[in-house]
Amino acid sequence: MRTSQYLLSTLKEDPKEAAVESHRLMLRAGIIRQIASGIYTWLPTGMRVLSKVNQIVREEMDKTGALEIAMPMVQPADLWRESGRYVKYGPELCRFKDRKQNEFALGPTHEEVVTDIARREIKSARQLPMCLYQIQNKFRDEIRPRFGVMRGREFLMKDAYSFDTSVEGTMVTYQKMYDAYSRVFTRMGLEFRPVEADTGSIGGNHSHEFQALADVGEDTIAWSDGSNYAANIEMAEAVAPSYDREAPGEAYSEAETPKCHTVDEAANYLHMDANKVLKSLIVHGEKDENGKNTLVMICLCGNQTLNEVKAVHIPGIADPLEMATEEEIGEFTGAHTGSLGPVGFKGRILVDRTADKMSNFACGANKTGYHLINVNWDRDVPNYEVFDLRNVEEGDPSPDGKGTLHLRNGIEVGQVFMLGTKYSEAMKATVKDENGKDIPMVMGCYGIGVTRAIAAVIEQHHDDRGIIWPENIAPFKVAIVAIKPTKSEQVKAVAEKLYEDLQNAGVEVLYDDRDERPGVMFADMELIGIPHIITIGEKSLKDGVIEYKLRKTQEKSTIAVDNALNEILAKLEK
Ligand code: ATP
Ligand code: MG
Repeated sequence: MRTSQYLLSTLKEDPKEAAVESHRLMLRAGIIRQIASGIYTWLPTGMRVLSKVNQIVREEMDKTGALEIAMPMVQPADLWRESGRYVKYGPELCRFKDRKQNEFALGPTHEEVVTDIARREIKSARQLPMCLYQIQNKFRDEIRPRFGVMRGREFLMKDAYSFDTSVEGTMVTYQKMYDAYSRVFTRMGLEFRPVEADTGSIGGNHSHEFQALADVGEDTIAWSDGSNYAANIEMAEAVAPSYDREAPGEAYSEAETPKCHTVDEAANYLHMDANKVLKSLIVHGEKDENGKNTLVMICLCGNQTLNEVKAVHIPGIADPLEMATEEEIGEFTGAHTGSLGPVGFKGRILVDRTADKMSNFACGANKTGYHLINVNWDRDVPNYEVFDLRNVEEGDPSPDGKGTLHLRNGIEVGQVFMLGTKYSEAMKATVKDENGKDIPMVMGCYGIGVTRAIAAVIEQHHDDRGIIWPENIAPFKVAIVAIKPTKSEQVKAVAEKLYEDLQNAGVEVLYDDRDERPGVMFADMELIGIPHIITIGEKSLKDGVIEYKLRKTQEKSTIAVDNALNEILAKLEK
C-alpha cells in the first residue's frame, strides 16, 4: 500500500475527548472515528487490525470444532419474552417497532436467537455436542459509553453457544473454549488472567472472565501470590476472620457527632480509627404487601467497602441492588443517612463477617448528629444475620488458604459461562435421548469483546510515540519511508524495488511515498505502530545501505541494499 493512495487519517493533535491512552491513540492513528456516542467507524488501518484479530478468533474457534453462523442483529421481542428477559434486561436493550408495529430489539447478546435455532435444527442427542459461533456487532445502550471502543454501544463480539446432553459434557466444551480463549489472547499479545466471575444477567452458575491487565481497567481482580487463585473482586471471598471477638466493655452511650456524614468524619470527630466505627448502609429488600420497599441495613467495618454482587446474592435483597433514598431512610429511622446504626433498627440487619468481629465500636445512633460508642453485637443488637458482604482488600488471605491476595485492574476481554438449562427450559429446546425422552439441552455461552480487546492491546503496547502493535495483528508489518524521492532517482528506484519485492514475498508493507518532511513520515509510521521501519535516503545509499528500525525497542541498524529483502524477511516474526 502506498500512503499516497491510502486513507492514513492520522491526527497531529491529541483529541480532547480521549481520557485513556488507547482511545487517544486509536483516534490519532486513524483507527476509529466516532459517529455518535459509543458508535464508531473503523477506518482502513483499524480494519486491517480488526480483520487479523477476527482471523485469529476464527482459527481458534474452528480448532475447537465450533461451527460459524451469522445471526441477525434485529431480534423479535417475542423471543426475549419467551426467555423472560425482555423486561428484565433493562434499558441497555434497545427496543423498537417496525412499520407494522411488531416489536424488536437490537441484539446485545444472542442466547434467545441461538436457542431458537437449536430447538428447530437439533433433534437428537446424537447430534450433540454442538457449538455455534459468530463474529458480529452487538448493541447495548450503555448508560456511560466511554474510553472509545472499550465501552461502546455498538461493538464487535465473537459469541459462541454450546449445546450438550449433560453438565459434564458442557464442562468439556467449556474447558475447550477456555483453552481457545487463552490461545486467542496470547496470539494477540495480551497479558491477561482468567478469573472466576459472577454470571450477571446472562445467568448460569459457573463462569470465568479473561481480564487484560491494565491500570485503566474498570474491573478489579484479586489474585493470590501463593497459588493460581484469581477472581473478579465481585466474586472473591473475604475469608472470615479467625480471631475471636473481644468481650464487651462498658454499656454504650451517646456521643455528639454534629455534621458528620461519613465514617471518616465521625471517626475523626470521635478520635477513633475508622475500623472502630461501623458503616451502616440501607438498601431495598423485598416489597411489602402494599408494594412498598422494605429496608434492610448492611453493616460493614468502617474502612471497608460493600460488595454489591455478594449483597444481591442474599435472598430477599433487591436485584439489581438499590440504595434506599434519603426520604425512605428519614421516614423509617427518623435520622440522616450519616447517623445510622443497628441499635434499635426495626428491619433486617445484615452484618459482614469482619464487622461481626468488632466489639466496643461506634455506630450511628439513628438520631441526626449523634453516634453511639461502646456498642456490641448480641448485647446491644440481638437480631442480625452474618454474611460475607465486603470487598477483599490487598493483604487479605487467599480464599484457597494459599498465599495473600493482591489487587489489580483488568479490562474484561472475554467471558465463558456454564449456562445450564436456563434458556433451553424456558424456550423448550429439547432433544430426544436414547429412550426417546425429551430432555432440555445443557448450554454454555462464550464471548470475546473483539473491539475492546484491540483497545486493551493498545493499552498494554504503546509508548509516547504511539502504538506498538504485536506483529501478529499489526496493520502492516513493514513501513518504507523514502526521503525526498522526487529529488533522487536512486532513492525512488530503491524504494520502489523494495516495495515490490516485499509485496511479492507476501509481506504487508506500507510505502510512504508522500514526499513529506522525513520527521512527519517517521512520526506517522511510529504512531500507527508498524513493527519494522525502513528508511531509504540518499546519504546512506552512498554507503550501499538503508536504515532499519525496530519499532518496539527503537533499535537501529543498517541493511545492505543488495540483500535488503532477505535481511528484512529474517527480521519478521514467523
Ligand atoms: P461489562 O461487564 O464490561 O459491561 P459484560 O460482562 O456485560 O461486560 P458480556 O456479556 O460478558 O459483557 O460480553 C462478552 C464480552 O463483550 C465482554 O467480555 C467484553 O469484552 C465485551 N463487551 C461487553 N460490553 C461491551 C461494550 N459496551 N463495549 C465493548 N465491548 C463490550
Ligand atoms: Mg462479562
